[in-house]
Amino acid sequence: MGKFHFRISQSGFIRKKHFLSTSGKLKSCFFTSSSIVSFNIEAERENMGNQNVLIVDAFNLTLSTEGLPNPSIYSIASQQKRPPVVPCGGYTNKKKLMLQNLETNAAAGARPNNCWVESIRASSPTHMKSITPSLLEEKRAWIIRHPSALDMFHEITEASKGKQIVMFLDYDGTLSPIVENPDRAFMSGKMRRAVRQLAKYFPTAIVTGRCRDKVYDFVKLAELYYAGSHGMDIKGPTKGLKYNQKSKVVNFQPASEFLPLIDKVYKVLVEKTKSTPGARVENNKFCISVHFRCVDEKKWNDLAQKVKEVVNEYPQLNWRQGRMVMEIRPKIEWDKGKALEFLLECLGFADCSNVFPVYMGDDTTDEDAFKILRKREQGFGILVSKFPKKTSASYSLREPDEVMDFLQKLVRWKRDSADTTKSKV
Ligand SMILES: [Mg+2]
Repeated sequence: MGKFHFRISQSGFIRKKHFLSTSGKLKSCFFTSSSIVSFNIEAERENMGNQNVLIVDAFNLTLSTEGLPNPSIYSIASQQKRPPVVPCGGYTNKKKLMLQNLETNAAAGARPNNCWVESIRASSPTHMKSITPSLLEEKRAWIIRHPSALDMFHEITEASKGKQIVMFLDYDGTLSPIVENPDRAFMSGKMRRAVRQLAKYFPTAIVTGRCRDKVYDFVKLAELYYAGSHGMDIKGPTKGLKYNQKSKVVNFQPASEFLPLIDKVYKVLVEKTKSTPGARVENNKFCISVHFRCVDEKKWNDLAQKVKEVVNEYPQLNWRQGRMVMEIRPKIEWDKGKALEFLLECLGFADCSNVFPVYMGDDTTDEDAFKILRKREQGFGILVSKFPKKTSASYSLREPDEVMDFLQKLVRWKRDSADTTKSKV
């Protein structure tokens, strides 16, 4: 007997009777209220004969063979009706290729080119083309690979049992919406309350590309760890130090020698880009952001070229792409993933098997942290995105409102678990 795990995406109501299998028997189901249903089939291999056909006689279903011991031998009969077409976004293969090229180039420290401009255009939701069946199919396949963390909440908390959850949260696009003026990327009061509650139950860190002081002004919670400038400026909580008793005071700046250079290049970039309407250069202390959010699309190539000319003059620096932004930073082996590991060490979890780190972020720079979690085989990453993206995160959430729902749910779960434990004593 083999145990197979399937995830099924659907847009309608599901009842158990809709699942019929000629070769296996449905043993257990997890039904959720939104788009992902997870269930397990235990199939008796000796009864499978030569058919190897899993029949899903239901409406609006997509069945993945992911997880089967040998997926290629199975065929799937299903989908008598297609789900209704709903507005959503996605990437065509061409767009995906451009993004992949971009990521490869950026990782290698390559300089910006037209491909970069094309990719930023492709990733802009304002330029999404009309939805085609293939885009819809692509989105469905992506959500099966990266299901909603809200829908998989039970599985996630089950996996964390007996371990210390540690929360790592990106700021822009994760706790606050992406807005035209980066200086006005405020988080809501409700989100702040959710994060404050979260920090009562779990050690919590903000990991951001922003200057640490600036993100603190947005978040205003002294009980958190802050890793600004993509983790190059880390500071521990100034109150509520209950989690880091084993550690020394956390105050870490691995790129401090670059401060004068960053200041200098910031001024050069401000001067160089001032003729491009809407261009905004932000000094994030140990790195610089050039924002494209308010720049006319026709000027993107021109702006990218200007930034390129400046960065080329300073071999100690490189750049990476973010959401509508170019990030210029020191060439050192340090990123959000390294910051995550550093913070785990500060918390006394360096070589610990009973820790469960959760990292939530929306941008390419957050991928470094997702990859570290995969490598450590601890916890998981959650990508915040409405659109399919190449990612090392395990789960997804669509937007900051869903992040807030997840954080609140986590707090309720922890509180209820604590109450249950007390009542048993
Ligand atoms: Mg972000």
